[in-house]
Amino acid sequence: MAAATAGAGRCHLSKVGTGRRPPPARVRVAVRLRPFVDGAAGANEPPCVRGIDSCSLEVANWRNYQETLKYQFDAFYGERSSQQDIYAGSVQPILRHLLEGQNASVLAYGPTGAGKTHTMLGSPEQPGVIPRALMDLLQLTREEGAEGRPWDLSVTMSYLEIYQEKVLDLLDPASGDLVIREDCRGNILIPGLTQKPITSFSEFERHFLPASGNRTVGATRLNQRSSRSHAVLLVKVDQRERLAPFRQREGKLYLIDLAGSEDNRRTGNQGIRLKESGAINTSLFVLGKVVDALNQGLPRVPYRDSKLTRLLQDSLGGSAHSILIANIAPERRFYLDTVSALNFAARSKEVINRPFTNESLQLHALAPVKLSQKELLGPSEAKRARGPEEEEIGNPELTASAASASQKLSPLQKLSNMDPAMLERLLSLDRLLGSQGSQGTPLLNTPKRERMVLIKTVEEKDLEIERLKMKQKELEAKVLAQEALDPKEKENSLTVHRPLPRRTVTGAKPLKKAVVMPLQLIQEQAASPKTEIHILKKRGRKRKVESSQVSEPVEKASEDCWELQISPELLAHGRQKILDLLNKGSARDLRSLQRIGQKKAQLIVGWRELHGPFSQVEDLERVEGISGKQMESFLKANLLSLAAGPRCGP
Ligand code: ADP
Ligand code: MG
Repeated sequence: MAAATAGAGRCHLSKVGTGRRPPPARVRVAVRLRPFVDGAAGANEPPCVRGIDSCSLEVANWRNYQETLKYQFDAFYGERSSQQDIYAGSVQPILRHLLEGQNASVLAYGPTGAGKTHTMLGSPEQPGVIPRALMDLLQLTREEGAEGRPWDLSVTMSYLEIYQEKVLDLLDPASGDLVIREDCRGNILIPGLTQKPITSFSEFERHFLPASGNRTVGATRLNQRSSRSHAVLLVKVDQRERLAPFRQREGKLYLIDLAGSEDNRRTGNQGIRLKESGAINTSLFVLGKVVDALNQGLPRVPYRDSKLTRLLQDSLGGSAHSILIANIAPERRFYLDTVSALNFAARSKEVINRPFTNESLQLHALAPVKLSQKELLGPSEAKRARGPEEEEIGNPELTASAASASQKLSPLQKLSNMDPAMLERLLSLDRLLGSQGSQGTPLLNTPKRERMVLIKTVEEKDLEIERLKMKQKELEAKVLAQEALDPKEKENSLTVHRPLPRRTVTGAKPLKKAVVMPLQLIQEQAASPKTEIHILKKRGRKRKVESSQVSEPVEKASEDCWELQISPELLAHGRQKILDLLNKGSARDLRSLQRIGQKKAQLIVGWRELHGPFSQVEDLERVEGISGKQMESFLKANLLSLAAGPRCGP
C-alpha cells in the first residue's frame, strides 16, 4: 500500500499563469431527469417534470396547476438520455485540462433516489461517469506518455468519504479521521491519504470496487440504500518533462457522489439518522454558498465552513473546471425535493454571462517561481492572513527560502531608506497607475503609501519655508541699503517685517513711523523714494489717520493695528480701474474682484444691462442686493491691489 503524504515537499511547484489572480470560473450546471424506476408508478401518474429542449425543462407549479416553472441550464438530459450522452456532453470535454496541469471536479447532486450513484458509478451494463472517465483518462495518459513523447505521465487514485464532517480513507478504513491541509502554494492536500498508482482500468477496479463496499450506507424511508456520506474519488495525473527544463505538472480530478439533498423533515429521520442528515445538509448548504459566491464573484468564498468545500477549495471555481450534475426524479413524491434541487442548481448558474476562464494551475518544477500574495506579505503577515488554525505543510528550508525571497522582492520593504529621487519616481508611477482606475494596481499599500506622501509633502514645505526665509533676508538687506543711501528719508524709512498687508507691531522697539508695502511695491519704492502709500493707524475699533509727518512715539503699540493710506493719484487710478471692470467686464471678470461672487457678478451685469454704465464706483450701492456697507468693503478690498497693480508691473 502506497500511503502518500500527498503534497508534502511540493512547495517548489508553483502556480504559473498570467500575473493577475484569475477571475472565478463559472460552475457549469447540467440537470439529469431519471425515468420512473417503478414501472407501475409510471403508468399510474404523470411525471411532474418535463424536458423542453437540450438546455431547459419545466416543472408543474403545485400552487397553480395551470402554470409551470421553467428552468434553463448549461445542459438538460431527459429520462431517455444514456450514460454516454451525459459523459460525452458534460464530462469528457474537461478531461483534457488535467493533462495541462489543471484541476477539475464533477459533482452529482440531488435527493436520495434521484440517480446520483447511477450517474456517477452506474452498473456493469450501464457504466457511469467514473468508469468512463477513468477509462478515457488512462488511455489519454498512455498515449501522451508513450516513449518518445516529451512528457512522462503517471496516474494515482485516492478514495475517501466525508461522513458527519469526518474524512475517512476508503482505501484504508482503519486510518480514522484525516485532516485537510493547505500547502504554501494554496494546494489542498490530505496527509496520510492512501494514493494508489494505477496504469490500467482493471487495476483501478481492483482498488475501487472493494473500497466502495466500505461506504457508509443506511436506510431511510425514501430509499432502501440511501447514501449517507459524500463519496470522493480523487484521480491525480502527474507529468514530468523528459528533457530540460524538466518541468512538472499535476492535475487533480474530483469525482463526487454527494449525499442526498432531501429535506430532513420528510425523511422521517430520527436519532443518528437525523444527526447524519444535519451534518450532510450543513455540508450541502455550505456547498450552495460556495457555488453562489463563485458565480457572483464575491470576494470571500466560504470554503472553510465545511469539510467538503474545504477539500474542493482548489478544485471548485477559480482555476478549476467544475460541473455540477443535478439529478432529479419524475415521481410526484419527489416534487418538493425536485424543486429545491432545481432551485439550488439554478442559483449555481445564476450569472450566465461570466466567461469561463481557462487560466489555471500549471505546475513547473524549474520554471521561475512566481510568488503568491501570501509570500509577498512576508512570513508573519502571511501567517496572520491564513489564520491561526492553519498549519503550513512543506519543506521548512523551502519555506524559509521563500520567506527570504519575499523579503528581497517585497516592494514595501525599506521604503523609508529609499533615495528621495527614487521615492519620487515610485510615487509618480503609483499615481499614474492609480489614475488608470481600478485596473491599475497601486504599488504601495495604503498606509505605507500615505506615510510616504506625507513625508514628501513635509519635505516640500520645509524647502518652501527655507526659500521664503532667504527672500525675507534679501529684502531686509535691500531696505537697509536704501536707508544708508538716503539719510534724509530716514524719518520715512521703512521697517519691513514681512510682506504681509497688515501687521501688529510689537512694543519691543518703538517706531516713529512704519510704512508697510505690498511685496510687489518694494522694488519701485526703492527706486523712487516718493512715498505714495502710507500707514493708516487704527486704535482699537476707532480709526485715526496720522500724518506722515507726525513723529510721535507709538504708545501701547502692541494694541495698535496698521492699515495703508494710498496717495490720491493712486486711489483715482484704482477707482478708474474698478469702474472700467464694472462697466466692461464679464461676469467672470467681475468674479476676479474681491468680495464679488457668482451671484453679485450676475446682479452687476444685469443692472448694467438695464440702467447703462456705472458713472462712479459708489453706484454699486444702487444695485439691488448690494448694500452700502457691502459696497464700502468691496472698495476697500479692491482699491489697493488695483491701484498698485499696473504701475508696478514688470
Ligand atoms: P441516489 O444515488 O441519488 O440515491 P440512485 O443512483 O441509487 O440514486 O438511483 C436510485 C434508483 O434509480 C436505482 O435503482 C437506480 O438504478 C435507478 N436509476 C437512477 N437513475 C436511473 C436512470 N437514468 N436510468 C435507469 N435507472 C436509474
Ligand atoms: Mg447514491
